[in-house]
Amino acid sequence: MYYADIQMIFSNNAIEYTIRRIAEIAFPQKECRVELGDVPTLVVDQNVEMKFIRPDDSNVELLYNGNLCYSNINSFDNKVSLKVFSLPENDSPFSFDGKCVHVNFDMLGISFLLLSRYEETLTEHRDKFGRFCYEDSLCCKYELSDIPIVDEYAMLLRRFVQASFPNFVVIRREPKFIPTHDVDFLFRFPNFGKAVKTISGDLFKRKRLRLSFKSLSAYMKSLRNFRQDPYASAVYELLKVSIENKLDSRFYFKALRNKYFDSTYNILSPKSRECIKDLQSQGVVVGLHGGLYSFADKIIFAQEKSMLETVCGREVASVRQHFLRFDVRKTPQVWQECGIRSDSTLGFPEREGFRCGTCHPYPLYDIENDCALEVIEHPLVVMDTTLYLIVCAICMTGARLSRATSLCCGTIPQCSASWKVGIRMCI
Ligand SMILES: [Zn+2]
Repeated sequence: MYYADIQMIFSNNAIEYTIRRIAEIAFPQKECRVELGDVPTLVVDQNVEMKFIRPDDSNVELLYNGNLCYSNINSFDNKVSLKVFSLPENDSPFSFDGKCVHVNFDMLGISFLLLSRYEETLTEHRDKFGRFCYEDSLCCKYELSDIPIVDEYAMLLRRFVQASFPNFVVIRREPKFIPTHDVDFLFRFPNFGKAVKTISGDLFKRKRLRLSFKSLSAYMKSLRNFRQDPYASAVYELLKVSIENKLDSRFYFKALRNKYFDSTYNILSPKSRECIKDLQSQGVVVGLHGGLYSFADKIIFAQEKSMLETVCGREVASVRQHFLRFDVRKTPQVWQECGIRSDSTLGFPEREGFRCGTCHPYPLYDIENDCALEVIEHPLVVMDTTLYLIVCAICMTGARLSRATSLCCGTIPQCSASWKVGIRMCI
């Protein structure tokens, strides 16, 4: 039985949550009031009113299966075509009766399914790492990956409201680019034993004499200064780029050892502590890169968070889960209860795009308890590994490609947008 079968999807809380998210995007810094009822209404600045169609639970299955009828309309800047659902034939998407703006299509239904990630409860299918798959998403079914549909609807609404109420002024927000770095590996030579293993591996296993000399030289350098370890130096290089470009970068560190995929460095070692101190001294946000098993386990997550906090000497409130592992029924609650207030896990591992239908930060939703959480999602739009795999799909031989795919998710996206990105990178 699907989760959707056992509770009401578009509850009053869900509708208010969705209208508030759209209002935050369309009318930033405005005072908003939501009135619920048969016709949900948003009132902005006391007198600018908008009425929405109440979404229907019985349409969700059709929508999720890709079978709900839609019309195409132009985006606010006329640059792309947008799909709108449940728009009566020959009707305009918006109308104005002299007092109130009417949204004549179902703006709230798909917006809630995307923002709350409710769509992830509509299938039990997952990839080999237990992740919701791009191929099962509304983004894939309605080709919405490159179009943040919730933002697009909000911008259309803004434009129509401004046309209807000429004195209504909207202050636009400045876009912000936030690079985020998951530190899966911190040291190539964490200790003497590992250095011997690496250098002898170059010499005897890989039979590459020059490479073994290069590794020996890098090891000697790292002994003089750990910041010159090949992996640690990459962190410092990213820090330098971040400072030079005045970027609000975030670095996420792993904090548990002894698990497969998770045990690459010891966060409690003096070198790790020094590295984190260096980042903090430059004002960089240090967050937790939640280990492979913590996404659905509060005890493990709390241990990891507490260990990183010991090193940081302050509370850690930001996270991204390793491998983007996320269970919509468990992970947001784990974060909420452990004091996390910012996450950047929600992007697709298989391709770039807008998994949540938005590029704006917004509070996550607790589907079990039907309420908004305090955890603010900063949606992940593109991950370097994804682009690397797309390039692999185009450039590599079959053998290397299959190794690359097995490392990630088992599927390589075939859609035209991804190929476009890959070809650009190849050139
Ligand atoms: Zn990772």
